[in-house]
Formats: sequence, structure tokens, C-alpha cells
Amino acid sequence: MKVVKANVLGFCFGVRRAVTMIETELEKSGDLATLGAIVHNTHVVDGLAKKGGRLVRTLDDVPAGGAVAITAHGAGEEVYEESKRRGLRLIDTTCPIVRRAQEAAAKLVEEGFFVVLYGEAEHPEVRGILSWTRGQGLATHAPEVDVPIPTNAKGIAIIAQTTKHPALFAEFVQALTKRYTVRVPEIRIVDTTCPETGRRYQAARELAGDVDVMVVVGSRSSANTRKLAETCRATGRPTYHIESASEIDEAWFSHAKRFGVTAGASTPDDLIDAVVERLEKGGGR
Ligand code: SF4
Repeated sequence: MKVVKANVLGFCFGVRRAVTMIETELEKSGDLATLGAIVHNTHVVDGLAKKGGRLVRTLDDVPAGGAVAITAHGAGEEVYEESKRRGLRLIDTTCPIVRRAQEAAAKLVEEGFFVVLYGEAEHPEVRGILSWTRGQGLATHAPEVDVPIPTNAKGIAIIAQTTKHPALFAEFVQALTKRYTVRVPEIRIVDTTCPETGRRYQAARELAGDVDVMVVVGSRSSANTRKLAETCRATGRPTYHIESASEIDEAWFSHAKRFGVTAGASTPDDLIDAVVERLEKGGGR
């Protein structure tokens, strides 16, 4: 069976960097709390747990003087302050691109803007970025939102969750700008989307045009992987979103000769390799 991998797939540099930093720390100490899941992939989280990585929800779960890792999604300003107050050792794996979005949010507020963040309000990255606006921001997907602009604000600044598709961000910006352009003195747009995400969509689209079936590997809890699967389906190519090789169905092989494989930014290499190997064998174990 012919299996072709997308030119860009799997761990992005931000996730790879975070996992490497945590593994290095675990090799040294054998015990590390991570504030939230390091990536949206249970295989990775379970693998780190076996090496001593403990997932915690709040700093209350970290013993005094212990070490805690901030994930690639980053964290709010209060996490840094509270860790310092408690004397915790921080292993900060915040992705540099997420850090740039946090810095942009803080700077825009300093300059007098109210920040509108295009993204999923409950996502840890979004909650972290919003914290850096110190109450002068909101997160939404809806351009119909009523922005509570303070009377002394310089205007609205629009930024995005890093994993948002640039084209969707552009649509959001256009719709919101149309509503506010005559109501505020200035609208500032800062594109904080991550090029890694767009490169994955592009590579997946191109590959889908060249194969019979697309297989997307990654956690169903990863919004980014689900979006990748939607992008493949939108090309009209039959697409299966699976979490591991064990979900490969032999029935797929009756109507396909060429399989394309892609994977979300939180999917590790070993899961992708196992899927490719199983597909090459025609689904057999
Ligand atoms: S997708 Fe981009 S912003 Fe998110 S962790 Fe990866 S490199 Fe960083």
C-alpha cells in the first residue's frame, strides 16, 4: 500500500521544545508538576507521567518549594506572581510564539487599547493571554460582540489565539472593524497567529488532492487536530480522524490504493510512525 506523509505534520517546534524541556527536567529530578496537560494528547501525558511528571490543576497541588512546569500554552501573570510568592521553581516552557502574543496583549493595553482576542474563551492559551490584559480584554469568536470600550480608551486592538486560521482571523477582523470603525478613534490589528498551524493545513490540503483517503492522527480533544481533519474533508477526500494505529479499519483498503497521513501539532512521532507502518501493511498487525 502506498502511504504518503504530509510535508509538515506532527509536533510543532513549540510543543517539541516543551516536551524536551520537561523530559530533561525529569531526567534530573524524577519529579515535576505540570500546570495542566503539557499537550492535548493522552499518549504524551501518560508517557511523561511514567517518568514522574504529575499533572496538577492549580498551584495548591504543588508542595512548598517544589518545581512546576508551565505548558507551551503559557500562563497568566498571576501564575508567575503566585509561584514566586510560594517559592516554587518554575520550568517555563511557554512557546515563544505564545509569549509574543502575551507581550502584544500587554503592550496594547499599556498603549491604551481595549483588546479583543479572537479565540476560544476557555482554552488555556486564551485565558493566559487575556490575563496579561489586566481586565482590559475579552475573548470571542463572534464579531457581533459588544465590546465594553472604556471611555478613555485609545481604541480597540484585535489579536488572535495562535492556532487560529489566518483566513478566519481576517474574516473576523473585517466584520468587527466594519461595526466599530466610526465608533472608535483607532482600531489596531496585530496578527498573532502561528505560521506552524497554517503550514499544516496547507500541506494537508495539497496531499489530500493526491491520494484516495486521508488519515489524520491525533487526539479528538485537540481542537487543532479536529480542524485539520475538517480541512481534509473540505477537499472532498474521504478522511478518517484516529488517535492511534489500533483504529485503522481493514474495510478502508477495499476502495483505496494511496493513503495520505497528517497529524496535529500535539501528535508525537511514534504514534504517526505506527499508523504509517500499519497502513503500509494494508491494515494488518
Ligand atoms: S502551534 Fe505554534 S504557537 Fe502553538 S505551540 Fe506550536 S509553535 Fe507554538
